[in-house]
Amino acid sequence: MEVSKRILIAETPKHLGKEVKLAGWIDVRRDHGKLVFLDLRDMSGKVQMVVLPNHPEAIAVAQTLRSEWVVEIIGNVNPRPEKLVNKDQPNGALEIEVLSITVLNTAETPVFDIASDGKEISEELRLKYRYLDLRRDRMQKNMRNRHLVTNFIRTFYSEEGFVEIETPNMTKSTPEGSRDYIVPSRIDKGKFYALPQSPQQYKQLLMAAGFERYFQVARCFRDEDTRGDRQPEFTQIDLEMSFVEQEDVMEINERMITQLVQKIYPEKTIQTLPFPRLTYQEAMEKYGCDKPDIRTDKNDPNLLAFCWVVDFPFFEKDDKGGWTFTHNPFSAPKPEFMNDLMEKKNIGSIGAAQYDMVLNGYEIGGGGIRNHAPEALKKVFEIMGYSEERIEKNFHHMLEALASGTPPHGGLAFGFDRLMMLLQNEPNIREVIPFAKTGEGRDPMMESPSEVSVEQLIELGLRITKEEKDGK
Ligand code: ASP
Repeated sequence: MEVSKRILIAETPKHLGKEVKLAGWIDVRRDHGKLVFLDLRDMSGKVQMVVLPNHPEAIAVAQTLRSEWVVEIIGNVNPRPEKLVNKDQPNGALEIEVLSITVLNTAETPVFDIASDGKEISEELRLKYRYLDLRRDRMQKNMRNRHLVTNFIRTFYSEEGFVEIETPNMTKSTPEGSRDYIVPSRIDKGKFYALPQSPQQYKQLLMAAGFERYFQVARCFRDEDTRGDRQPEFTQIDLEMSFVEQEDVMEINERMITQLVQKIYPEKTIQTLPFPRLTYQEAMEKYGCDKPDIRTDKNDPNLLAFCWVVDFPFFEKDDKGGWTFTHNPFSAPKPEFMNDLMEKKNIGSIGAAQYDMVLNGYEIGGGGIRNHAPEALKKVFEIMGYSEERIEKNFHHMLEALASGTPPHGGLAFGFDRLMMLLQNEPNIREVIPFAKTGEGRDPMMESPSEVSVEQLIELGLRITKEEKDGK
């Protein structure tokens, strides 16, 4: 029989006693002179192969092979002799007897070990050679599980009537309490797009547009000072719903997360169902923070202690003594505080219709019911000291949209990287982000951020003052 189609290593047990074609990377080579053992790796797993002296051509090639070379193998799938069976390995009961080897590509000796979990290697180096780093088992699992979780989430919301809609990344500033990344416009010199800190405004505009249930696996950008579990760009599972109250949004998201854990992480236990709820005040009094770690056993990597924190204050004092929002300027006050908002009184005690989902001491999601009455949203901006002119300039479109027949609405966004970090028991979000940046926001592999040419600057109407100073 001619073997023409490559099969995956995971499929080899089904082909016991047959000839197969495999392709992948040389994981390990053990040269015993007359015999060469090779471990082959592909996206589905690993298998041991042996090149026997009765195949001299194959032996000759095998002796040249090095780790990470890419090969195609024709071989027989044989059962291993009884005493060589390794029950701890997925393919430990079989062995591929190699008939021929074709080298598809050679490889330089990897700059670091990819067989380990990689935690002993400097992160800068791992990020510089991320394509190698991602070959290690742990990183493969992190990325593949990230995919499984995204897939689950997409299916869950789709079945609940949500539609995934993409929103622009080149847009106008949307305040989430951080600095914007900005992109200069070539055509409109001196003007800039802002990368979204979240799709907040667009998702509300989609409620104005009548979609009623929206979600998106959305990329967000925030220019923040270095912080361990932050990245300049990160992913949110973002959603918004019309004709709902706080309870509805909390219910559907609690259900989604519960089912996700049960389906994709069955080895994990959710500490308490339904998720316990604490008010902001209770959390602060009892735990001294608004994202309490309520685990009863902090040594158990499979314990997931979810809780909700509710009843946040709407406003807090900023550095300059004025009022700013605690979460989001678009939140509504809780209904009983609407009068205070409209009359701009008792500002410090206005409660927001805002809820955070917390897991093992991390805020993994947050959302709110929004202000769908334009006059109420305007009051929020006024309390924050925005001039009439600034409100008009920055939020005219929102006020106009709300005045166009926008239903009551609310939503939530999950910090997806943080959620994945916790589900995968990783110490930071960079371990679950395929091409992460360093804590200082650099990508050592692409060497970004980087300088651009003077021509590009001229085209954009920009001038770098440092360049001028350096006389470049
Ligand atoms: N846009 C909010 C955030 O990024 C989430 C939300 O309120 O839906 O935190």
